[in-house]
Amino acid sequence: MNFVLTSEQKMLLQTVRDIARRELAPRAAQIDREARFPRDGIQELARAGVMGLMLPPAIGGGGGDSQSFVLATEEIAKACASTALVFVTHAVASLGILIGGQDPLKRKYLPLLAKGEAIAAFAATEPESGGNPAAIQSSAKKHDGYYTVNGSKVFITSGGEADLYLTVVRTGDGPGPMGLSCLAIDKNATGLSMGRKDERMGLNGSSPRELVFEDCRVPQENLVGSEGAYMPLGMVMGGLGALGAAAIALGLSQAALEASIAHGKGRLILKQPIGLYQGVQFLVSEMAATVDAMRAQVGWVAHVRDTTPPPHLDVFKAKLFATEMALEVISKGLQVHGGQGYTKDFPLERFYRDARGLTLHFGPSEMLKETIGKFLMGLMP
Ligand SMILES: Cc1cc2nc3c(=O)[nH]c(=O)nc-3n(C[C@H](O)[C@H](O)[C@H](O)COP(=O)(O)OP(=O)(O)OC[C@H]3O[C@@H](n4cnc5c(N)ncnc54)[C@H](O)[C@@H]3O)c2cc1C
Repeated sequence: MNFVLTSEQKMLLQTVRDIARRELAPRAAQIDREARFPRDGIQELARAGVMGLMLPPAIGGGGGDSQSFVLATEEIAKACASTALVFVTHAVASLGILIGGQDPLKRKYLPLLAKGEAIAAFAATEPESGGNPAAIQSSAKKHDGYYTVNGSKVFITSGGEADLYLTVVRTGDGPGPMGLSCLAIDKNATGLSMGRKDERMGLNGSSPRELVFEDCRVPQENLVGSEGAYMPLGMVMGGLGALGAAAIALGLSQAALEASIAHGKGRLILKQPIGLYQGVQFLVSEMAATVDAMRAQVGWVAHVRDTTPPPHLDVFKAKLFATEMALEVISKGLQVHGGQGYTKDFPLERFYRDARGLTLHFGPSEMLKETIGKFLMGLMP
């Protein structure tokens, strides 16, 4: 593993850092307060070529590796975690089309996704399925060159804002995860409508929404991966999603650490900085040590993802660790800020609310622990 950045990675880091400081950070509180989709920030990232970071240069992408993806995601999340979630979701759905899409679909959408001129979303969760794909009920019946899709999806990031929804549906009668397929569904498809928009605790700019499919017509060529064989594709996309969630958790934790160091130096009591209190030094030291451990693990699993075939169990371990630890790190940062940290005048409370969603999405912690445990003991079916 190489922790030394390449010149391309350094340039990418500088580009994203500039956009994050100039465009994303100043708007983050307002985006959170008004639950507004961060369209301007996404367009800035698109103009700089960041939205297609991991897609091949031949179609207008950046050809970046997992390490580059982590670097960009962390920087975006430090400024605005809602924007980072939209970015990661777009990367996950774009990857699905890259590896599983048929040629006409790739030709139509990949150049737009690479340039960020179209935004992609991923729709698996249903009211009755939770995080278990085996329980997905939305159906797709094939006839006359089309699939007819019926059902609904909930909590979909970029819902109503994305141009393309990579949607998991049941095409066969096979039990559980057998018989599941993935369809790329255009926002203008007949029979697709946007349902309820969720009011969330955090990540408020990510436009979480229900999708409703009523006899929705999808061309057969929009099948992504083989019919009835969604699971291997889902594992690869889920791995990138988990890496992205870990990088968002890292970005939020780093932001909390930097804010707490500044507060420790700047907040005066009896004309002395509170950083002189040993209790505050302990909190900041524990935060810093945990953030270092998170960064080392996330960097390591990015390397593993690029150099070994899936399934990437280590990525799921890093997602579990980083998202759970982010809550501890940010909570300590909030403690450093005292009562001010509990107000909306400081970003700590937003960081905490944003981080809280990450232990639920891209594999809730409990399901990840089950998967990791089963793999380690050779009990995975
Ligand atoms: C911020 C955010 C963004 C999201 N974006 C998207 C998106 O873009 N697309 C999308 O499809 N979904 C999205 N989701 C949905 C998310 O993937 C689900 O919330 C998640 O899969 C869990 O499903 P659920 O909420 O129905 O919880 P449930 O499945 O009802 O789970 C409730 C509890 O039971 C536990 N549990 C459930 N099953 C098991 C099991 N087998 N073993 C052990 N414990 C279990 C869970 O860990 C959890 O603690 C998003 C959610 C959040 C919070």
